[in-house]
Amino acid sequence: MTRDKWIRFRKSIEKALPLPMLLPRLTLLLALVGMTMPASAAIDPPPEPKWAIVIHGGAGAMARGKLSKEQDRAIRIALAGALDAGARILKEGGSSVDAVEAAVKVLEDDPNFNAGRGAVLTYEGGISLDAAIMDGKTRKAGAIAGTTIAKNPISAARKVMTDSPHVMLSGTGGDAFVTEMGLETADQAYFETPERRRQLEELKSKDGAWFDKEIKYGTVGAVALDTQGHVAAATSTGGLTGKRWGRIGDSPLIGAGTYADDRACAVSATGAGEYFIRVGVAHEICARVRLKGEKIVPAATAVMAEVKALGGDGGVIVIAPDGQIGWSFNTPGMYRGGRDSTGRERIAIYGDE
Ligand code: ASP
Repeated sequence: MTRDKWIRFRKSIEKALPLPMLLPRLTLLLALVGMTMPASAAIDPPPEPKWAIVIHGGAGAMARGKLSKEQDRAIRIALAGALDAGARILKEGGSSVDAVEAAVKVLEDDPNFNAGRGAVLTYEGGISLDAAIMDGKTRKAGAIAGTTIAKNPISAARKVMTDSPHVMLSGTGGDAFVTEMGLETADQAYFETPERRRQLEELKSKDGAWFDKEIKYGTVGAVALDTQGHVAAATSTGGLTGKRWGRIGDSPLIGAGTYADDRACAVSATGAGEYFIRVGVAHEICARVRLKGEKIVPAATAVMAEVKALGGDGGVIVIAPDGQIGWSFNTPGMYRGGRDSTGRERIAIYGDE
């Protein structure tokens, strides 16, 4: 519920009921709302935010009790580090594109997330990384799919945007571009972790399992608003454990997992990519904001309901040029965080926080 809606809601209740009767009823009502409310939230915008950033490190089955204390702590530290990297740029008047790239790089370098180092493994046991970035000011975009060598796929995606006439490169061609552009590369030993190898072996031992159902979609992403009023979005992923046949998910697809448009908002998604592609999630949210005048969180929640209706799960982070920021997800948890120019900050993992 947004702040405006909440104030109107509270006033209408206060009018209808005298205060002594109101308190117990309000408590009950809040308990009911809390139980049925979808896992989405608007972080109240400051009156005139100068800049803001929201990040995610994937959504999925991370209910309370599923993560060890150490994992919980490591994730929160990593999310704070990514917010620091983006906020540092925005605070100094840097662009939202620079900020989302910097935030995503931090998460790509952290083996706790399914992007860059620590990405999930393909069916053959290899690495195949996807990323996309979009500038809401110009609606220029760049993406790379199936790179096996870019140490930071998000920087490769940005290079596609700035130094090629294309929007998306893939496979061996994408890797040739990475090499030609002199971007930093790494080999399988850098990307692979023992935990990802174990997850692949577990998946392959299950008969007929396409994807890991207990999955934490550890894709990473960032959306930002800069002091010039421009938004940007970036997403990076290893895809799904055991993916094969050159499978590509929503993350590098402009309009599905990533989209930014100053006339509407910026979106980065995580979840069961096939459903996000079919719904065209990121563009659909922006279209609702631009053409229907919806606020970003109701728009995101409506589109996530469509994903759910088709059988998919996951989540999105959103930001708008007027300073609205928020997220929406239909999984037990989502690694997420936000910070803005007023000093407001929030880092969360579970659906109930
Ligand atoms: N959306 C990603 C994909 O389908 C997976 C994730 O979010 O972790 O490739």
